[in-house]
Amino acid sequence: MTLEKSEQMYEKAKTLIPGGVSSPVRAIKPFPFYTASGNGSKIKDLDGNEYIDYCLAYGPEILGHNNPVIKEAIVSQLDKGWLYGTPTELEVNLAEKIAGYYPSIDMLRFVSTGTEATMSAIRLARGYTGKKKFVKIEGGFHGAHDAVLVKAGSGASTFGEPDSRGIPADFTKYTLQTPFNDLETMTSLVEKNRDDLAAVIMEPVQGNVGPILPEPGYLQEVRKLTEENGVLLIFDEVITGFRLAMGGAQEYYGVVPDMTTLGKIVGGGLPIGVFGGRRDIMEMIAPSGPVYQAGTFSGSPCSVAAGIAVLDYMKKEALHEKLNATGDSFRQALSEIIEDEGLDYYVSGVASMFKVFFGAEPKNYQDVLKCDKDGYLTFFHRMLASGIFLPPSQFETNFLSAAHTEEDLDKTLEAYKENL
Ligand SMILES: *Cc1c(COP(=O)(O)O)cnc(C)c1O
Repeated sequence: MTLEKSEQMYEKAKTLIPGGVSSPVRAIKPFPFYTASGNGSKIKDLDGNEYIDYCLAYGPEILGHNNPVIKEAIVSQLDKGWLYGTPTELEVNLAEKIAGYYPSIDMLRFVSTGTEATMSAIRLARGYTGKKKFVKIEGGFHGAHDAVLVKAGSGASTFGEPDSRGIPADFTKYTLQTPFNDLETMTSLVEKNRDDLAAVIMEPVQGNVGPILPEPGYLQEVRKLTEENGVLLIFDEVITGFRLAMGGAQEYYGVVPDMTTLGKIVGGGLPIGVFGGRRDIMEMIAPSGPVYQAGTFSGSPCSVAAGIAVLDYMKKEALHEKLNATGDSFRQALSEIIEDEGLDYYVSGVASMFKVFFGAEPKNYQDVLKCDKDGYLTFFHRMLASGIFLPPSQFETNFLSAAHTEEDLDKTLEAYKENL
C-alpha cells in the first residue's frame, strides 16, 4: 500500500490550508489520505487504495456514498437551477415531513450547518425565556460557535472556560456544565440557576465522545426536571436524528424536548441544519418575532431535495429496522472478539452507531478520557492498512450504512481480530 500522492498533496495543502485540512478532526497523523471518490460502503484515495468506510463523513452518509436515489434527486434539481434566494415549495415539503416525524417540532427553520442550528436554538431559547444561562453536558459537542466551545471537565458548578483562543471568557460565562448521566449534579445546577437558566442543551446519546448511552430513565428525569423549573430542553440530534429512528433519539427513548436541532443525515450528504420546536417558541424567530436569524444558503434547494430523497427512501425501506438489527449483531460479534482476545475493552453503541473503547464502559466524558487514546491510534493505523477506515480518534462514533454488505462486515471483523 502506497500513500505517495496523499503525502505529496499534504505537503502542498499545508502551505495553503492550516494543518492541510478543512476541519481539524481530518488531520490524521503523520498525514491524511486525500479522497478521490466514494461509492457505496467504500472510499478511494488519490493513490487508488480503497477503504471500507465506517466514518461516513462523521454521520451523514447513512445510505453510503454516491447513492443513486439521492443523486437522482440532486441532478433533477440541478436542471432547475440551484439557488434562488426566494422561498420554494421543496422546503415546505421537507419541513412538513420533518414535523411529521418529530413530535417536538411544530415549526422549524432551515440553516446550512449543525453549528448554525445550535447557535440559533440557543439564541432563541434565550430570547424566548428572557434568561441568559444554559447548561451543556461535559464532552457534548454542539458545533464550533463561541458559547458552546467550553472545555469539558471544568467542574459542574463553576463557569465554563473557553476551549479555544479567541473566545473572551465573557462569552462563555453563562455556559454551565454537568457530567452526562449524573442526575444529582444536573438537578442542583438547574434548581440553583433556574431564575436565569434559559435551557439545557444535550445530545441524547453522546456522539462526539462516544457513543455514550443515556442510563435508563436519565433523559426522562432531565425532561421532568427542566419542565418543573421552567427551563427549555433542547435535544441536539444532529447525529441521532434519522440515525436511531426516523424520529431520532426522542422517538427511540420516548422523550419529547421543547426544541430540537438536526443536521448531517437530513441533508442527504449536502450541507444542512435544522432547528425546530414548539410553535410558541418558534414564532419568536424573525420575521414573525424579535429573535433574529438569517442565511443566504438556508433552505438551499439541492440540500432540501437530497433531504426529501433520503427521508422518503428510509421510510419506504423501513431502513432502521434492518440497519439497527445489523448494528446489534455487529456489536455482538465485536464483543465476542474482545472477549476471545481477553482484552479489557468495551463495545458501545446503539442502532447503527458503534465504538470499541480501549478501556472500561464509559458513563461520561471523564470516563472516556481514561481510555487508551494512543493505543487506539496505533489500532486505527493498522485498520487503515487493512483497508478499513475508522474515524481517527477514540472520541468519534463509528457508523454503519445501508450500503455495507455482509462481506464488508465479515472482512472488517477479521481485521478487528487481527489488529486488536
Ligand atoms: C456535527 C455536530 C454538530 C455540528 O454540525 P456541523 O454541520 O458540523 O456544523 C452539532 N451537534 C452535534 C451533536 C454534531 O454531531
